Amino acid sequence: MQQQFIRNFAIIAHIDHGKSTLADRIMALTKTVSERDSHAQLLDDLAVERDHGVTVKSRTVRNYYRDQTGQDYEYNLIDTPGHVDFNYEVAKSLAATEGAILLVDATQGVQAQTIANYRIAQQDGLTIIPVLNKIDMPAADVPATLAQLHDLNPAFDRAHTLMISAKTGEGVPAVLEAIKERIPAPSGKPTAPLKALVFDSLYDPYQGVIAYVRVLDGQLDLSQPLTLMQATLDFKAKGVGVFSPTMHPQATLNAGEVGYVVTGIKDPRAVRVGETLTRKTAPATAALPGYRPAQPMVFAGLYPKDNDYPALREAVLKLGLNDTSFSFTEERSEALGMGFRCGFLGAFHLQIIRERLRDEYGLEVLATAPNVTYQVTLKNGQHMVITNPVQFPAFGLIETVAEPFVRAEITTPDNGLNAVLKLVDHHKGTLLDLGNSGDLVVVTAKFPLSEVAAHFFSELKSVSHGYASLNTEFLDNEVADLVKIEVAMNYAPVDALAMVVHRSDAPAITQALVKQLKATVPRQLYPTPVQAIVEGKALARVDVPPLRKNAAVNGEAHSVSKKAALLRRQSQNKRRATQSQIKLPQSVFNALLEL
Ligand code: GDP
Ligand code: MG
Repeated sequence: MQQQFIRNFAIIAHIDHGKSTLADRIMALTKTVSERDSHAQLLDDLAVERDHGVTVKSRTVRNYYRDQTGQDYEYNLIDTPGHVDFNYEVAKSLAATEGAILLVDATQGVQAQTIANYRIAQQDGLTIIPVLNKIDMPAADVPATLAQLHDLNPAFDRAHTLMISAKTGEGVPAVLEAIKERIPAPSGKPTAPLKALVFDSLYDPYQGVIAYVRVLDGQLDLSQPLTLMQATLDFKAKGVGVFSPTMHPQATLNAGEVGYVVTGIKDPRAVRVGETLTRKTAPATAALPGYRPAQPMVFAGLYPKDNDYPALREAVLKLGLNDTSFSFTEERSEALGMGFRCGFLGAFHLQIIRERLRDEYGLEVLATAPNVTYQVTLKNGQHMVITNPVQFPAFGLIETVAEPFVRAEITTPDNGLNAVLKLVDHHKGTLLDLGNSGDLVVVTAKFPLSEVAAHFFSELKSVSHGYASLNTEFLDNEVADLVKIEVAMNYAPVDALAMVVHRSDAPAITQALVKQLKATVPRQLYPTPVQAIVEGKALARVDVPPLRKNAAVNGEAHSVSKKAALLRRQSQNKRRATQSQIKLPQSVFNALLEL
C-alpha cells in the first residue's frame, strides 16, 4: 500500500486500563478477526499472559480500515506490555511507530505507568491521542480524569480526548478515524536501499528466528540475500509477511510497513533486537542506532528440578532471544548442580520467566532467592561486581560494598498517602519530593533497589487497595552496610541459600530464616542442625527434628533382638544419610522469599 494510507501506532497504558481489550475491538471492527473467531484478548497468546491478564511480549498486527469515503488504510497496531518491569519492551515497540493511543481507565485515572509510557512516547516524538476508557462503568470519573490528562499535557483538553468503552465498543469508531486524521503516515524512501529495524523476534523450532521488522526505506522481499548490519551476518530469508493476527505471507514489505521475516537462522543469539536489516548487495549506508540494552536489576539462580540441564540450557537460550532483557550465565551450585545465574528487570519478570519455562518448555525449575548487584571494593584496592551472594568475599577482606539505588515515583489517591509513606519508611526509602497531579499525590522517594525489587509492588497495591501505582528508575550505586548470611546444615555450608542483607536487618532475618528452614527442610533420619552465620558467628540456630523417633528410646514393646535389628538399620541409614546431600525442595526457597 502507498505510504500515505499507512498508519503505525501503539496503545500505551497503565496495566489493566484496557489495551488488550481495545486491540481486540479494533481487530473486530476492521474485520481482521471475524466475530466468530474473536475470543477475548487475542493478542495475549502466551499462556502466562492469559494467567496474569498481563501483556508481556509486544505483539503486532495488521488491520485494514475502510473509512467513510471508501478509502482503505493499513493500520499496523503494536500492543505493548504494561507492567512496571517491562518499560524496555514498550520503548522497543514505540520505535517502530509514528503514533500512540494513550489509554486511561476513567475509573482509575492517570497512574504511574501512564506517566512513564507517556514520557517515552513524547521523547520518541510520537503523535499521542488521549483516550478515556471504561466510560460504561458507574465508577468512571470523566471530569477528574480529564483534569489529570490536562495536567500531563495542556494539549490534552476535552476537545482532543476521546471517550470510549473498549468493552461495549462505544466510541471506538471515532478512535479509528482519529488514527487516520492525527497520526502521520510514514515517510520512508521507497526507492532507497533497504533499511529495516528489527524491533522484536521469536524463535520457531522449525523456521528458526522470526524477526519482527519495521521497514524504514526500500523494499523487503525474497529476491536478494539479506544482511544483519551489526552482526555482519548474511542470510537468505525464507519468507516475509504480516501478522493479521496469525502469520500471512506477503510478496513484499514496503517502506513504512511492519511485518515479519523468517530468517531461517538457527542461532537465537545471532538476531539482536535493534538490529538493522538491509540487502547484501546495495546495502544501506549506515546502520540504525539500535537500542540501549536493558540493564538486569535482579538476579537469581535457576536450576532444573529433574536434573535435565541440557533441556534448561536450550530453553534459556531461546527465551533470551525472545526477551533480550533476560540475561544468563552458566553456574554450578554445590547444593543444586548445574544451572544458570540469570538477570531480570524485576521480581515480576523472574516470575514470568519461570512460568514461561513451565508453560512453553515443560520445565520446572528451582529458583534461588533474588538479589541485586553488589559493587565490592576490597582492602587491597581490587574491585568486584557480585551478582551471586556465594561469591561475596570474606568479611575481613572487604573495604566497602555499594548497592544500587532507585528513584521511585508512587502515585496514590490522597487518602492512601499515610499508608504509602509508612511503607516507604519501612523499606528504607528517603522522601525526595511530594507533589500533586490533579487529585493524585505523587510521592518520589529513593530506595535501595533490594527493598523494592521483591514484594514492594504487591505491598503497595495492598495498602492502597489497588489504587497506588509505581514506576522506578535506576539512580546510582551507593555504599551501604551489607553483610552476607551463610546457611550451614549439619555444619556444611549450603551455597544456594547464601544471601546479602543490610546489617541492621541481619538479626531479625537470621531468626526468621532458621525458623522457616525448620519448617521446610525435609526431615532426615537424625536431627539436623541449621545455622545462619554472619561474619563467622552463628546468629541463629535450630535443630530440624528427625523423621522418626529413635527406635532405642521408643517405648514400644519390641523383643530385644527386634530392637537391636532396628538400631542396626537405623545407624546404617544414618551413615548413608550423612554422606548424601540434603535435597532442597522449592518450598525452602519460597520460604526465604517470604522473609
Ligand atoms: P490491559 O492490561 O491494559 O491489556 O487491560 P485489559 O484489556 O486486559 O483489560 C483489563 C480488564 O478491564 C479486563 O477485565 C477487561 O475486560 C476490562 N475492561 C477493558 N475495557 C473495559 C471497558 O471499556 N469497560 C469495562 N467495564 N471493562 C473493561
Ligand atoms: Mg493486555
